[in-house]
Amino acid sequence: MDTEALTAWIREFARLIALNKAELTELDSAIGDGDHGANMDRGLQAVVAVLDAEPQETPSALFKKVGMTLISKVGGASGPLYGTAFLRMAAAAGEQADLAKVLRAGLDGVVARGKAGLGDKTMVDALSPAVDVLEAGGTMRAAADAAGRGRDATIPLIARKGRASYLGERSAGHADPGATSVTLLLTAAATTLGDAG
Ligand code: ADP
Ligand code: MG
Repeated sequence: MDTEALTAWIREFARLIALNKAELTELDSAIGDGDHGANMDRGLQAVVAVLDAEPQETPSALFKKVGMTLISKVGGASGPLYGTAFLRMAAAAGEQADLAKVLRAGLDGVVARGKAGLGDKTMVDALSPAVDVLEAGGTMRAAADAAGRGRDATIPLIARKGRASYLGERSAGHADPGATSVTLLLTAAATTLGDAG
């Protein structure tokens, strides 16, 4: 894995979060407390500032820096969840590790921390199918498409984890904000990393 390309991925993620901040806010206003857009944008802007000041030299150092920054800046449920994902990705990103392995480790971290399963209407519903595609040898574009289908499939679901679960049946009818931001992470990967798996 090429640290420069991975850095470009994170920067593109930050750009897409900023671009879609209002949509994330709207989705989280419908089924949560409306802060997911602001939370993520604050975190990713801090990440970009850190990477501007201190370019990272290895994939592992990069993911660790991203994870630590997200934990300290994002807050909410998603800060520790994204932060844990990136810290697990850092641990998995040895010389040989490919993106399927790295993202599987990130997903495992989210599940270990948040205890959500498929169909609970969380970021897991977008990340898990994307990792499955990569492990089956699919391209990053195909993985991003799978994440998007996972996000869309959260629309009719009733949330069983996180703040949205307090709404019960009223959480149905809207896409999950975290599944939406995870889809942006995979979309950014498809744009910047292509099929470099
Ligand atoms: P908060 O819910 O504290 O306001 P955010 O609004 O930033 O935090 O993030 C909400 C998102 O976090 C949800 O849309 C969901 O995808 C994700 N989330 C919440 N709880 C969990 C969990 N236990 N496991 C996985 N993802 C979760
Ligand atoms: Mg929220």
